[in-house]
Amino acid sequence: MPIIDLQPSFLVRPRLAPTESIRSLLHRLAVQNKLPLSMLGQPGRLGEATQIACELASAADWDRSELIQRAASASACESDQSDTCLRIGTALLGKRCVVGLQRRICPLCLVSTTWTPIDWEIRQNDACHIHQCMLADKCSACGASIAWLSHQHACDQCGLAWSNFEVRPASQLSSTFAKWTHSSVVMALRGIQRDGHSKNNGVRLEKLLLMLEVLRCEVLRQWLSPKLWADFGHVWSIQLLKDSDYRSWLWSEMFLHAAKDPMTLKKRCVRRDLYS
Ligand SMILES: [Zn+2]
Ligand SMILES: [Zn+2]
Repeated sequence: MPIIDLQPSFLVRPRLAPTESIRSLLHRLAVQNKLPLSMLGQPGRLGEATQIACELASAADWDRSELIQRAASASACESDQSDTCLRIGTALLGKRCVVGLQRRICPLCLVSTTWTPIDWEIRQNDACHIHQCMLADKCSACGASIAWLSHQHACDQCGLAWSNFEVRPASQLSSTFAKWTHSSVVMALRGIQRDGHSKNNGVRLEKLLLMLEVLRCEVLRQWLSPKLWADFGHVWSIQLLKDSDYRSWLWSEMFLHAAKDPMTLKKRCVRRDLYS
């Protein structure tokens, strides 16, 4: 019987918070154990963070199968997946759906907590669904980008605590989309599948993001001038998706018809009755 446990372990072993991402968990492990952050490589890089977290799983007492569902790189842990995918619960998304090296935070949430949720890493979501304020990706005092690794949860350049960053209110539509994103992330983590016909708030995460992108990039891009599209393409897409009849109709066009012939997607997704 071994007297000394040679298995490396950590003094503090943070538990996964309800919607926490793998990168946030890895960061907390480093901060709470006062580890040199350099030993974690570049945790902003999804593939690298996933590999490191999986390797540390048994020492940190983490459930590996749960870890790899937390906005983790699918290719880093499942060899049969394309390297463009990441996994959030039952949802598989393209990597461009999440922010890369740039971390984003809600200053008000970080007054009482140190973990950051998957919702804030979804690129299309720019607000906190609880406080209805914009997510910050830069220090409000000096403008430096927020780094994934920071020992103090503070700006690396001027030392301003993340929780003291200026709070900017979010628009109604950004707040609405933040709520949708949150409920879709929760559903994906719980393995609940609901399609675009659902009248409830809560569409499968990958479908929600796809509908938003089709509206923004295929439909509104045709309707609007480049300047208007750049300024309003995102929020007007959310406005259209708020109408459950429109959402349901778009869903049918995209998935029941256009799937047969993707080249006609643009034509099909312009609803003629809106102009008649
Ligand atoms: Zn918040
Ligand atoms: Zn700063």
